[in-house]
Amino acid sequence: MTSEVKKANMKESFSYETSKDIPVPKRLIDQIIGQEEAVETIKKAAEQRRNVLLIGEPGVGKSMLARAMAELLPREELKDILVYPNLDDPNNPVISTVPAGEGKRIVMSHKNRARAQEEKKNLFMIAIISFILLMGFMLKQFLAAIIAAGIIFLALQQVRPQKTIMVPKLLINNEGKKTAPFVDATGAHAGALLGDVRHDPYQSGGLGTPAHERVEAGMIHKAHKGVLYIDEIGTMKMKTQQELLTAMQDKKYSITGQSETSSGAMVRSQAVPCDFVLVASGNLHVLKGMHPALRSRIRGYGYEVYMKDTMPDTPENREKLVQFVAQEVEKDGRIPHFNKDAIKEIIREAQRRAGKKDSLTLKLRDLGGLVRAAGDIAKSEGAELVSKKHVLKAKKFARTLEQQIADRYITQKKKYSVFKSHGSEIGRVNGLAIIGDRSGIILPIAAEAAPAQSKEEGRIIATGKLGEIAKEAVQNVSALIKKYTGTDISNYDIHIQFLQAYDGVEGDSASVSVATAVISALEEIPVDQSVALTGSLSIRGDVLPVGGVTGKIEAAAEAGIKKVLIPKANMDDVMIEKKYEDKIEVIPVKSLGEVLEHALIGKGKESLIEKMQRISSDIMPKGIIKNPT
Ligand code: ADP
Repeated sequence: MTSEVKKANMKESFSYETSKDIPVPKRLIDQIIGQEEAVETIKKAAEQRRNVLLIGEPGVGKSMLARAMAELLPREELKDILVYPNLDDPNNPVISTVPAGEGKRIVMSHKNRARAQEEKKNLFMIAIISFILLMGFMLKQFLAAIIAAGIIFLALQQVRPQKTIMVPKLLINNEGKKTAPFVDATGAHAGALLGDVRHDPYQSGGLGTPAHERVEAGMIHKAHKGVLYIDEIGTMKMKTQQELLTAMQDKKYSITGQSETSSGAMVRSQAVPCDFVLVASGNLHVLKGMHPALRSRIRGYGYEVYMKDTMPDTPENREKLVQFVAQEVEKDGRIPHFNKDAIKEIIREAQRRAGKKDSLTLKLRDLGGLVRAAGDIAKSEGAELVSKKHVLKAKKFARTLEQQIADRYITQKKKYSVFKSHGSEIGRVNGLAIIGDRSGIILPIAAEAAPAQSKEEGRIIATGKLGEIAKEAVQNVSALIKKYTGTDISNYDIHIQFLQAYDGVEGDSASVSVATAVISALEEIPVDQSVALTGSLSIRGDVLPVGGVTGKIEAAAEAGIKKVLIPKANMDDVMIEKKYEDKIEVIPVKSLGEVLEHALIGKGKESLIEKMQRISSDIMPKGIIKNPT
């Protein structure tokens, strides 16, 4: 069954007219799409209060999962935490834990009692002073009475009642919370994460704010009985990660001033409970920056999950995307709902963005961006529903930074004719590459071959970041070139240049292009400049599949190229926009031979192809699979 037929057969089973008809699940965990395994793990981890490490691309739902986990944790356990002054040791404030909601009441009652005590003291003072003044008036000793009243006033100011009522500070308030806390500590510095004691310039004089009032809770404490979420955990300082680990092990952590020169550093509270579940996340690179003990703690007492970035293109999964559109509209609250065609266009875009056949993207943060952009356009036009044309417009306007760079790159390079889209040239090939996630660009490659200067062996000279890839590509195909052309490249110095390669360009899919440029240079057979190509080359001469073909073909079409050669195995991944369909011909190729047949032009081509065929039938007897797909 071809994929077209398959697509036609796929009908969503539930009926709806607009996204308004789709019910949005109440629980966050039920709103998470396409990450079934991760969802199961989070449910299990919530039940057993385990830590979780989520590894995956940005925008696939990692923080959403952490938030959903907080919803699943029991809320009965929530507590308020108070900090009291310690009369015996003022620098060691006392910590007390009470059921959620109690904290505020306790602070209020202390405040009331303190106020009553103060009022009593004031009343007492007024009575005594009045009495003295009255006595002075009666004895006609005004001056003495006023002086006596003044002295007594000052003396009473200094006298404290035997038991001063000091008001505690409410450190953590969970009053009225419906779910366990979720605290996002991404990028938090030590003070914010672990708690801090504020500096008090008057501290030494004893006139300042009492120590307990300067104690500030950290995120680890705010997350007590809930979830502490840290994205990009590898970028957190090692020392902070170490402290985090200690807090996780002890489930309590004293608060002290984080800056050594501050008076806050003299204060150290009693241990404050911090029994949180850690959900850490990041991409694979993050693991490098992660404290090994912290990682092993998670592995030993929790789960590690690798998140998916695509899901199979099935009717059920399409339905999930319909639900996703409804969710995003509801969540935004300001944009209109989507009609059926608009939703279909979003699904189509999800196919395109998946970049491989029969898949839908799960990079849903970006897709959500498209939903919102389309919604904004519909709203600005006063439309009641978002329709297909709004989505198409949004795709044009809401381009990623990389797409905008790619666009500008194409216009600029066209202007200075860095790449050519017609005519022919020896040793020069229009390669194709991807920048960012899926934006294609033309990557012109030029090769020169000159007899080797060194007697022993020729050199391969390739510069720039992509140089290594080029060298490897040439080395990999050197045997092939010898067999295909009869030329021994070790007799030549071969120079390869990626013309104005852009930062961030991935070049691993350029080996077919490099090989073509080198063969053209060696054999002095021109390359057709209206052709662009992409593909990875095996040492046997098979063209192997690569990523991002849709973006690459679109970039080629945009640049005025007429034909694109792509690996045959990638044909099903092609989902180019309608507007490019008539502009460009896509030719699937399986072997380097086929590539040369389409890319080379003019004199010498025929004899080379003939030679190749003759040699390849010698070296590749029947029965050997020429192409792995
Ligand atoms: P990450 O933490 O992986 O970078 P987020 O969880 O912050 O991604 O996702 C950002 C937004 O994208 C979410 O708020 C949600 O709107 C949408 N989103 C991402 N992944 C999913 C998913 N799997 N299911 C539903 N919505 C998602």
